[in-house]
Amino acid sequence: MWFLHRPDAANVWKNDAVCNRYSRYKGILDGTKIPRYLIAKKLVVNISFEEPLEKLWLAHEQASKEFIELLRKIDSEEILLNELSSPEKSFLDLKEKIACKILESCHFCERRCGVNRAQGKIGFCRLGKDSYISSAFAHTGEESVLVPSGTIFFTGCTFTCVFCQNSDISQEWGDVIDNKVSEGVKVTSKQVALMAEKLWKDGVRNINFVGGDPTPNLHTIISALKQFERNITILWNSNMYQSLEATKLLLELMDFWLPDFKFWENDFAKQMSGVNNYREIITRNIKLAYAEGSGEILIRHLIMPGRVEQDTFPILDWCAKDIPKAMINLMDQYRPEYLVRRTPNIYRSINQRISTIEWQKATEKADALDLLWKPVS
Ligand code: SF4
Repeated sequence: MWFLHRPDAANVWKNDAVCNRYSRYKGILDGTKIPRYLIAKKLVVNISFEEPLEKLWLAHEQASKEFIELLRKIDSEEILLNELSSPEKSFLDLKEKIACKILESCHFCERRCGVNRAQGKIGFCRLGKDSYISSAFAHTGEESVLVPSGTIFFTGCTFTCVFCQNSDISQEWGDVIDNKVSEGVKVTSKQVALMAEKLWKDGVRNINFVGGDPTPNLHTIISALKQFERNITILWNSNMYQSLEATKLLLELMDFWLPDFKFWENDFAKQMSGVNNYREIITRNIKLAYAEGSGEILIRHLIMPGRVEQDTFPILDWCAKDIPKAMINLMDQYRPEYLVRRTPNIYRSINQRISTIEWQKATEKADALDLLWKPVS
């Protein structure tokens, strides 16, 4: 029984502040609200899917506006979802079509490799057309508001974090030999939908798409949602380095956002995770999720040793100012892993855990800013 291991998960909904921040997620849990992807299935789009990508995006822009109105009517029970028929072409179908087009010149993330993954070419993330899963289970180790969480772990990642704690599935999950991924459990979108179905039957609170990173698998995820029908929260658990286009596809599908926000200084992000323009891209995407998506966000901030002033403080300042209703998981569990553990001389400054003083400084700062972090940290 998961709640015996995590009594905070059962009690967290007695906290009014948490209920207010995540009111729609709570409504889906209670059966009084409908997940966004089910609403996207009912929204009609009138466009030939043979049109070029630019025209598909114009239709998407229009459908996004109509989605907001439909969501409002469904939330206020002005319209009942089951009174709507399933259109020949839905907003979700359009999103799937656009995702397949993006795959032909991949720009799911801001690396923008531009390779034709639809034809089996492999991108930086080591993925071609197919998706691979390392595990799918009811996770009891996620934050109190999420457990048990129906985690579906995709292999592959758009980052190369030198301290990665999941390098077996993000960086080293299979070798690319002769332009083919040699290992991993290949899955179809139908199989992903069946995994979600099994997790739903197991009583999870949400379907949690994670990795590695889920971004390179967006085409598979959207297609899986087309084949899944349950009234359950859909959650994006990501480094949030997806492209603007991918973010737009996600906005009307994700009920809950679980983004990492690790670094403030771009030079450090480049050194640690091998990515450019980290801060600008992550803040852009989180702000969009906050303003134009569900707005129900739980930021994961991993406190790094020696980085409280440079990264933790400005990140918390930004959260307080730009996304004040988000909750923050202040994470003290950094430990030297992967390349840091293997070559400690190169990464001396982060080859240690954070100190008690660093933890104290971070929590005092969060309290001074009146951030809500304790129920989920
Ligand atoms: S998901 Fe990102 S890293 Fe992977 S191929 Fe596409 S653009 Fe490249």
